[in-house]
Amino acid sequence: MAQTFTSLSALQVMLWGVLFFGGIYAAFGGLTWLLTKRVLPALGIGRVLDPRALQPGQLRRELGQSGVSVLIFGLGMVVPWGLLQLGWARLDGDAGWRQVVLEIAVLALWNDVHFWLNHRLLHTRWLRRFHGPHHRSFVTTPWATYSFHPLEALMLGNVILLPMVLHDFSFWSLAAVPVFSLFFNCVGHSNYDFFTGVSYSHWFAASRRHHLHHAVHNGNYGFQFTFMDRLFRTRIAADAAEPLFQAFHKNARDNAQKNAHKTASEKHGAATTP
Ligand SMILES: [Zn+2]
Ligand SMILES: [Zn+2]
Repeated sequence: MAQTFTSLSALQVMLWGVLFFGGIYAAFGGLTWLLTKRVLPALGIGRVLDPRALQPGQLRRELGQSGVSVLIFGLGMVVPWGLLQLGWARLDGDAGWRQVVLEIAVLALWNDVHFWLNHRLLHTRWLRRFHGPHHRSFVTTPWATYSFHPLEALMLGNVILLPMVLHDFSFWSLAAVPVFSLFFNCVGHSNYDFFTGVSYSHWFAASRRHHLHHAVHNGNYGFQFTFMDRLFRTRIAADAAEPLFQAFHKNARDNAQKNAHKTASEKHGAATTP
């Protein structure tokens, strides 16, 4: 596979890149949507995290912005391909499965470090406005996973470049990065708690942590793991969004009462009208 990849032309790499990123975005996004909207609620497994409704036009905006990110990630495949052409990086064509597993584990850890650093930078005064498009999704959906400004796509999309020049990875280890990253990202943006029994800091509670990041913003910059947020003391308290949700529930109750009152007085008015 390593040889096939390097023997492609730049145009072919970009075309395959767009198809690959578009394909995994549609597949993982669709699967997570189906699981969290239909299958798991019907089976009584897990729970919805943020009870608030999506904004008008939110899904259309998320899909539009994600389309641009798919193009950037796909066309951007020409960069690692270029590194290989120039001999600045090499692929290990003889890696056995043990090496591939180990490389993927290292890349998963690096992905969390890289994500935390870039995400923290995106929350600084200078870069915040470029992160705004992603945070327009107060209540997250799986389609928000790639929904960001092109600059954010460029920052997050370069994750494999540094490891590639430092070590000869297997083609499969590098190809696994966007796959596991998108999988975890879809889970993180699903607005669904899949494992209600695990603690807030558990690996499996990543969707709880990222949903809080979208609800209250300042903290939980990590991806799947918590080590970077623990190291830099940027964790959000597990109950940080409670006041927000209590206000939402109170509003909903008040509105329901107002509507019931209105309906009752309308009925009364109709009954007394001759
Ligand atoms: Zn953020
Ligand atoms: Zn997010």
